[in-house]
Amino acid sequence: MANIKYHLGEEIPLEMHKVRMIQRLDLVPIERRLEAIKEAGNNTFLLYNKDIYLDMLTDSGVNAMSDNQMAAMMTVDDSYAGSATFTRLKDKLSDIFDKKYFLPVHQGRACENLLSMAYVRKGTYVPMNYHFTTTKAHIMVNGGEVLELHMSEALNPVSSDPFKGNMNLDALNELIEKEGADKISFIRLEAGTNLIGGQPVALENYIATSKIARENGIPFIIDASLLADNLHFIKTREEKYKDHSIREITKLLSETADIIYFSARKLGHVRGGGIITNDESVYKTLLEMLPLYEGFSTYGGMSTREMEAMVVGLEETMDEEMINQGPLFIKYMINELLKHGVPVITPPGGLGAHLNAMEFLSHIPQEEYRAGALASALYIASGVRGMERGTVSEEREADGSDHLAAVELLRLALPRRVFTLSQVKYTIDRVVWLYENRKLIGGLEFYEEPKVLRFFFGKLKPTSNWQEKLVEKFKQDFGDSL
Ligand SMILES: *Cc1c(COP(=O)(O)O)cnc(C)c1O
Repeated sequence: MANIKYHLGEEIPLEMHKVRMIQRLDLVPIERRLEAIKEAGNNTFLLYNKDIYLDMLTDSGVNAMSDNQMAAMMTVDDSYAGSATFTRLKDKLSDIFDKKYFLPVHQGRACENLLSMAYVRKGTYVPMNYHFTTTKAHIMVNGGEVLELHMSEALNPVSSDPFKGNMNLDALNELIEKEGADKISFIRLEAGTNLIGGQPVALENYIATSKIARENGIPFIIDASLLADNLHFIKTREEKYKDHSIREITKLLSETADIIYFSARKLGHVRGGGIITNDESVYKTLLEMLPLYEGFSTYGGMSTREMEAMVVGLEETMDEEMINQGPLFIKYMINELLKHGVPVITPPGGLGAHLNAMEFLSHIPQEEYRAGALASALYIASGVRGMERGTVSEEREADGSDHLAAVELLRLALPRRVFTLSQVKYTIDRVVWLYENRKLIGGLEFYEEPKVLRFFFGKLKPTSNWQEKLVEKFKQDFGDSL
C-alpha cells in the first residue's frame, strides 16, 4: 500500500483488501439533522444511528473484521471452563508477545480495574505519558494520583515530532528521586495516546522507560489498546527499525514490559480485552479477582466466538498491509485538510483525524465549548458524527467552575477498514465548507449536566439561533443537495 506511485501524481492510499459485506447507510436531509441534534442536546453520544451517515465517534468495537475472523467464529469450543478456544488464544498471545500468562476480560477498562485494585494504594502515584479517561478514573477510585509526564511537544497542535506520545524520561527520573520508588504504584505507557490525537511512542522510548522502571524495581505496564497503529508508526517513522518486521518490533516492545493490557475492541478488531505477563505472582494475584469481576479464567466475560476471531485478528495485526489502512487514510485526510488551511493536529496520528477546535472556532469563548459546538455544526452540515474531546469531556472544579481543557479537539475516528475513500473525501469537503463558514458557528451551554463523565449524557443548547443560520447558508450554497 505504501509503495505505489501514481501516473497522475495524486497520492492515494490504496487498500490491500476488498469489501465483501456491506451495510446500508442513509443521509437524512439537513432539516432532520438539525432536529436530531437538538433532540440529542447537541451531544453526539445521544444521536441515534438512523440519523447518522458516517459514524466517526470511535474506533471501539466497530473496526471491520476479516473473512477469516468471521469464519473462525463458526469453529468454537464453547465450554464454560477449559475450552480449546481459550488455549488457542493464549498460545497466539504467547507466540506474538512472548508472555506466558493470559487473563481474559470483557473489555479494556476491566484490565484497568483489576490492575488498579492490585497495585494502586492511597497516596501513591502512577506516572504515565498521557491519561485515558477510564484509566484515570480507576486509579483515582483506588486513591492514587495520575501524573502525566509527557514531552512539551505532546500538547503542541502543530508539530513535526514523529513521536509526540513519548514519556518524558527526565521528568520520570526526577519524580523517582523526589518521591522514592515506593510511592509509585507502576509506570504506564500508552501506545498511541488516545486523548492527544493517537500520537505514537518510539520503541527507543519504551526501552528507556523500561530501563528506569527495572533499575528502580517499579512495575512497568503498557496499555496496548492502540498498539496496531503504534507498530505501523515505529516501522515507518523510526529509522532504526525500518527493516524490522512488525512481528520483530512487537517482540522487542513486549520485552520491555512486565505487564501488557489491551482493549480488544481496538487491538484484534473484536469485543474483549486481556492482560498478559510472564510474572507468575502477578498472574496469581489477578487470577483471584477474575471470577468475581469478569468470569471464569478461560473466558473472562468474553464471548468465545469473539475469542476465536481475536486469535485471527491478532495474527493479522502482524501483517503490515492489514494494519496500515487506518493510519494512511488519516494521513490523507489530514494532508487534504491542511491544503485548505483547516487547523488540525499534526503530525497525523492513529485512531482518527483530529480537528483543532481551539483555533477553528477561536471567535467563541472557550467557556461556550468550542469542540462541542464544532461537533454539533459538523453533524448538521454533513451527517458525520465525531466526538468532542475538550472542555465538555472534563469534570468541573471543586468550586463548580469549568475546568478549561488544554486542547479542544473534534475527533473524527476512522474505524479500521470501515470507510471508503469517497466517504473520507465527502467528510473533507464538508469540513472545509464549515471552516469557510466558521463565523456562523456559535457557542453552547449546558441545560442538563450530570456530575460525573458529563460528556456521555449531558445536554446542551445553542447560545443563539446560529444553527438555523448555518442551515440557511447550507441551502444557499448546496441547493437541494442533502
Ligand atoms: C479504549 C481504550 C481503553 C478502554 O478500553 P475499553 O475496551 O473501551 O474498555 C483503554 N485505553 C486506551 C488507550 C483505549 O483506547
